[in-house]
Amino acid sequence: MTRSCSALGCTTRDNGRSRERGISFHQFPVDAAQRREWIRAVNRVDPRSRQAWRPGPSAMLCSRHFTEADFERYGMRRKLRRGAVPSLPVTEPEEAISNCRRPLTASLHSF
Ligand SMILES: [Zn+2]
Repeated sequence: MTRSCSALGCTTRDNGRSRERGISFHQFPVDAAQRREWIRAVNRVDPRSRQAWRPGPSAMLCSRHFTEADFERYGMRRKLRRGAVPSLPVTEPEEAISNCRRPLTASLHSF
């Protein structure tokens, strides 16, 4: 299964191209308070239930929603800092895939 970003309007997928650009993917935190912060930052409504969207077990955000300061570097690798909250909304879809704007939530509903 291809991983893709759960942020509204963000079309980043985990593929060779995103890796080339240094984009990483980060799972929603287990910590309840931090998780709420992420959900609030994503600010997304489930189109079916019209309730606040809840991240599924495989929900991820890409690194485009975080600032450099949110990461700790370990040589070539980087890791989100504890307590990091996404602060950069991505509103512009990437031009190359803008003609394919299916909601990325479809796969989450099958869980
Ligand atoms: Zn994203």
